[in-house]
Amino acid sequence: MPLTPEQIWNKVIANLKDSISPETYELWFKPINAVSFDDKFLNLSVPNKFFSDWIQDHFQETLENLIGQITGSEVKVIYSVDPNSRKLMLETENEDPVPPENEPTPKPVPETSFNEAMQLYPKYTFKQFVVGGSNQFAQATAEAVANAPGNAYNPLFIYGGVGLGKTHLLQAIGHHVKEKFPRLSVFYITAERFTNEFIESIQKKQMIAFRAKYRNLDLFLIDDVQFISGKPSSQEELFHVFNSMYGAHKQVAFASDRPPKDIQKLVERLRSRFQWGVIADIQPPDLETRVAILRAKAESEKLFVPDDVLLFIAGEITANIRDLEGSLIRIVAFSHVTGTEINIDRAKEILKDIITKDEIVGQITIDSIQKIVARHFNIDFRDMKSKRRTATIAFPRQLAMYLTRTLTEFSTTEIGGSFGGRDHTTVMYANEKIKAKLSNDPYFAALANKIILEIKSGG
Ligand code: ADP
Ligand code: MG
Repeated sequence: MPLTPEQIWNKVIANLKDSISPETYELWFKPINAVSFDDKFLNLSVPNKFFSDWIQDHFQETLENLIGQITGSEVKVIYSVDPNSRKLMLETENEDPVPPENEPTPKPVPETSFNEAMQLYPKYTFKQFVVGGSNQFAQATAEAVANAPGNAYNPLFIYGGVGLGKTHLLQAIGHHVKEKFPRLSVFYITAERFTNEFIESIQKKQMIAFRAKYRNLDLFLIDDVQFISGKPSSQEELFHVFNSMYGAHKQVAFASDRPPKDIQKLVERLRSRFQWGVIADIQPPDLETRVAILRAKAESEKLFVPDDVLLFIAGEITANIRDLEGSLIRIVAFSHVTGTEINIDRAKEILKDIITKDEIVGQITIDSIQKIVARHFNIDFRDMKSKRRTATIAFPRQLAMYLTRTLTEFSTTEIGGSFGGRDHTTVMYANEKIKAKLSNDPYFAALANKIILEIKSGG
């Protein structure tokens, strides 16, 4: 007998529960229901788009793998937004609330899923791109290119610092062209992936297929092209792809973290191709634009964040739009985890560590950090010092090391000693690992914040 969507989802959850924290489960998985399954698609209902984005960013592959194992066939996970389940999210005390009867099954929203063939992400459209003085020129040229691919500026070369919207703009060109000229073939790739695919196709002797793929494109979007620096054979290949496309009046657009003249170890002829069309830079946004971006983000995700809080975030986070969004998400995630309302004081507290480095609090002990972290992850406090290395123990231990490093003045050697006689390099490694996770996992950042507050208030 075929499995029902609920049965599949229950099995997924049973499988996942071992590898995620109780908080992750409560916050992100519990509010989800499986609403339909038809062999190829499992449709999950989520409280809002913020949810599906987050699950996609962090668990899409895991979910699809698990479901593949459970059903024995290749299944894509798609999402539909059902605002009713939002309530459940905030009432986590209520065990297994009964869903209202006769509710219509929410319709799938296919546009929320990643377009694999073209490598386009649904959220990166012109509509979602807020224009301000800092990005006006780049946006205008991108739009011109999207309206007349191959006939406006060719190539378009966009450059600017990290998190300022380069990928967003490149992908927006892709979406727009796909919509306006459905027959044109569009493809987005990062230079890193291009390089990897190129090397792989040499190894597997599949160069002909590799070249054919690019020869047939009408719009080719290449992101983070600075990556190609110092890789002569990939540069050579890209040069040929560019020439054949350019010769056929096909559109090429590049994004890079620096202008062509500053890309090191780049063959001159490719550098000169980069400069043939238009070069547009993106600068960090001004305050007004930052507020507008936050407001747009909050609206599109249906998040209720008071204006003074938006203004506060925009005033503090100035360099990078990814951090700006990350801060917003962190605040919202925190309020979801704790069930508290968002206000400016809380926002200050949550963003404290990125706004100004915390002053060292004298009375925090390693012991208290270990205890609080162990409690959050449901592990035995003694395992903070034990030799066990399973992920469920090693990860909280690394977090505790990181917190000790940031909240106390102990040296890495002293910290290693207090964690079962470990070496200082182990502490340094833990520190880097946790830092990386904090910056790309907003839920984890929110959880870490909660733990920090608890440690500072003495547990
Ligand atoms: P980059 O590729 O330059 O590092 P991204 O394009 O990945 O930056 O942008 C980082 C994040 O900021 C993305 O989530 C993107 O949607 C958002 N973003 C950047 N610029 C804007 C903008 N002008 N309006 C709305 N969102 C933006
Ligand atoms: Mg990018």
